[in-house]
Amino acid sequence: MTYIPFKHLNSTPLDFEVSVGNTLFIGNLVHKKGKIAQLNGTITGTVLIFCDVCAEQVEKTLNEEVSFYLSDGIISENENELDIVEITTPMIEMEELLHSEIELIKSDYFCCSQCEGKTLDKEF
Ligand SMILES: [Zn+2]
Repeated sequence: MTYIPFKHLNSTPLDFEVSVGNTLFIGNLVHKKGKIAQLNGTITGTVLIFCDVCAEQVEKTLNEEVSFYLSDGIISENENELDIVEITTPMIEMEELLHSEIELIKSDYFCCSQCEGKTLDKEF
């Protein structure tokens, strides 16, 4: 597991590289202000995902650029407009972050190549 102490982040981007399953997450973390840090990275590799049309499980190739903010603990400030992941542990668990990003990707609408374009032709 890769743990990055939140307190060690500063204005110099800190590079990281973690992998979970067949995915690789490369990027960096930089402290912005107060309790807020920013993550920029790219997720590559493959995940098994269910087609939302035929429910077949297929392998999806990823090349996702991700960028979001992290907060050191719970934030109660009026920063709701930002996409903030609250880190409630002293260390940022990078594999855990990658895991939740993959879950997000999996929860997105997905249509396999077999079903692409077919949905409109179907007559009910
Ligand atoms: Zn399908």
